[in-house]
Amino acid sequence: MEYEDRYRQVQRPKYDCLLFDLDDTLYPLSSGLAAAVLKNIQDYMIEKLGIEESKIPDLCNLLYKNYGTTMAGLRAIGYDFDYDEYHRFVHGRLPYENLKPDPVLRSLLLSLPIRKVIFTNADKVQAIKALRHLGLEDCFEGIICFETLNPTHKNTASDDEDDMEFLGLTRSSSVTNGSCEIFDIIGHFSQPDAGSSGLPKTPIVCKPSESCIERALKIANIDPQRTLFFEDSIRKIQSGKRVGLDTVLVGKSQRVKGADYALESIHNLREAIPELWEADKIAEVSYSGVNPVETSVTA
Ligand SMILES: [Mg+2]
Repeated sequence: MEYEDRYRQVQRPKYDCLLFDLDDTLYPLSSGLAAAVLKNIQDYMIEKLGIEESKIPDLCNLLYKNYGTTMAGLRAIGYDFDYDEYHRFVHGRLPYENLKPDPVLRSLLLSLPIRKVIFTNADKVQAIKALRHLGLEDCFEGIICFETLNPTHKNTASDDEDDMEFLGLTRSSSVTNGSCEIFDIIGHFSQPDAGSSGLPKTPIVCKPSESCIERALKIANIDPQRTLFFEDSIRKIQSGKRVGLDTVLVGKSQRVKGADYALESIHNLREAIPELWEADKIAEVSYSGVNPVETSVTA
């Protein structure tokens, strides 16, 4: 029996799933989409949430750092808004034309004999649009996106009768959003010894939180011990490592703590990790080789 287990382990390919981030991982940062997303988020905060322009850079930075996405941070500190409207505003007018079909990546992906799943913080419409522009929409088994991770979210934004009050939310800790007070995160971090322990929680589930990654793995029935996770964000790579995934940092040529591999571009996949293509060969060997496994199955 022990021999049988060992035999199986030796024959089994190391990975049976590849989990891919999308933005800045399957296409390069130089496409300009990330910069456009940031600009749109900032416009949304000014135009829709009435946040003072001078505070936007600090606020964006703190929210992103502490909550994973600016959206998750905005919700945590007390802003309430319609998630779909936010996504439409931020992603609806991106320069998708900058994303060109990528036949090289497409053939790499299609030649890989392993499950492939997209795992993105973006909403479904944006994820599908980006994949279509890249010509990769049929290369993946599924997409884990904002809606998958936040299936029961409620849109409670006051976009009708409360509009004036909503748009008037311009000033720091004393401003309110409906009946909720806005948490002054800039003020919080300007205090000496301020840490993240006193911060309000966000209702939004997103990377890099470990519980988000664990939820995604559960949803797609993925075993972290047998999965390779591709990401351009170092923080997300490190969270992935903590939940047991093997990791590939994309867009950098140097490995960092938590990254098992580093790829300057996803196009270098075959050169950097050729063993991914060996799953086919290994399967053939185990079918055609001597088969001590059968004897014990009958018992
Ligand atoms: Mg990314």
